[in-house]
This record gives sequence, C-alpha cells and structure tokens, in this order.
Amino acid sequence: MKHRKLIMISLSLMLFLLGCQDRPDQSNNHAPTVENEETIADEDDREEINDSTEVDSSEDSEIDDKDKEPLYQVNQSNWVIEPLDEKADSKVALLTIDDAPDEYALEMAYTLKELEAPAIFFVNGHFIQSEEKQDLLKEIHELGFIIGNHTYNHANLSEISEQEQEAEIVELNDLIEEITGERPKFFRAPFGVNTDYSKEIAAQEGMVLMNWTYGYDWESEYMEPEALADIMINTEYLTEGANLLMHDRAWTAEALTKIVEGLREQGYELVDPSLIDVSDR
Ligand SMILES: [Zn+2]
Repeated sequence: MKHRKLIMISLSLMLFLLGCQDRPDQSNNHAPTVENEETIADEDDREEINDSTEVDSSEDSEIDDKDKEPLYQVNQSNWVIEPLDEKADSKVALLTIDDAPDEYALEMAYTLKELEAPAIFFVNGHFIQSEEKQDLLKEIHELGFIIGNHTYNHANLSEISEQEQEAEIVELNDLIEEITGERPKFFRAPFGVNTDYSKEIAAQEGMVLMNWTYGYDWESEYMEPEALADIMINTEYLTEGANLLMHDRAWTAEALTKIVEGLREQGYELVDPSLIDVSDR
C-alpha cells in the first residue's frame, strides 16, 4: 500500500512537471515554430491601464535600463540575440528563468546577482497572488532583473478564446506593473505557442516576443544539477546569441553557478537584457 501511495505521488509530481514545462511539441531543443492561425479580432474596449503605482527610487536597481541605447535584438525567426551594432559583442548568451516565482526564483536571483549575471525572469500570475509572493517578485525586480510576461495561468494560448488570451496577457502586465512599477517588455508564450491574436496583443502591449534556442531542465535525465550544468554548457546548441531557457526548479537553482561559470569559461558574455531593443520596429 505504501508503495502504491509513493507511485501515486511520483505520478502527480511528473504530471505537475509536465504541465509546467515549456517543451515544444517537437521534442528537440530548438525553438518551437508551432503557431496557430487565429482570425483577427475586433478592437476591444479594454480599460486603459491605471498608472497609480508608486515610482520607486532607482538606487536599488543596478541596471538602469532607461538610459541605455539598445545594442541587441531578438531575431524573431530563431530567437537568437543578435548585435545591432559593431561595438556589441556577438559572443553572448541570454539567461532566462521561466515559471517564476515559484519556489526557487529568489534564491536563483541572489545566485545570479552574486555572479553579476543578468537574466530575465518570466513570471506567471498564479505565482504572485499572495502578498508574500508579490514582495518576493518586487525583490527580484529590485535586484536588477528584468521581469517578463509568461501569461497569468500558464495557458496554452492556442486552446483558449481570444478574450481569454487577452486576459492571460494584459491582466498579468497590469499585476506586474502594480507590483514592480514597470510594465513587462518581453513576452514568452507557454510551450512557445503563440497565436496571431496573442502576437497582436503582445504588440499592443509593446512587448517583444521571445521563445528560446535551447533548454533541458524539463527532461528527466537532466533533472539533476550535475547533468544539467554539463549539458547546458556543452550542448551543440550553445552558439553566439544563444537564448537559454531554464525554470524555477530545485536542480536548476543548484546548477546555476556552474552554468554561468561554464558559459563564461567558454568566452560567452551574459547579455544584459536591458540592452535588447524593445522599441517598435
Ligand atoms: Zn512555462
């Protein structure tokens, strides 16, 4: 009986992990290209954003993104981070942490801060319902990290109505802005699945779409820090402008220092996401 219980718990854990991962349907490690055709909806009458949040002093934030000239852009066909300028180093990698802030995001933020490694945390609304979790998100933001939108409920956007897609994206932006004082500039759809309509909403919200070029921490053989750190720095997909997908997970949190050090040992600079162009191009 005990054994069966254990199996049930393991199964539930597996299902949970499967539910939260971003693996595209095609199970290679490249960015997914799955996209659904959606008809363009009528103008909606969504309320204007209530800009009542307090402006916090920027002294806590090491990265002052407002005065920076963009040096990079996200290639919208392969999600590579490309230099816009000759003076920008092309041997860069971008760190991103999805499904945050669940259990390990704050610890991961402190690890990255210690290593002076910038990153984007892609956040879900269901993780920031309590005041405690909202404070935690604020802390990550104040440590200087960029907060991206990963939808309110980690929805597969191709399986819900246009109205629901809009709510998944816009309501999360409203909530994040309320907490951090800043509206997200990057959007990553769960499972890498956008629709024409979600792209339109992201554009209306002034967000740049961003999938990823590789990641491994959702595959069972890499749910272990040593193996994960090893593949993240030795994969053939590590090339200039690589866009690394990681998650708020125990083994990833544990592997993080090795991943950062390994990338740097190979000559990769970790790109500051506040240098990525988010203007309407
Ligand atoms: Zn996700």
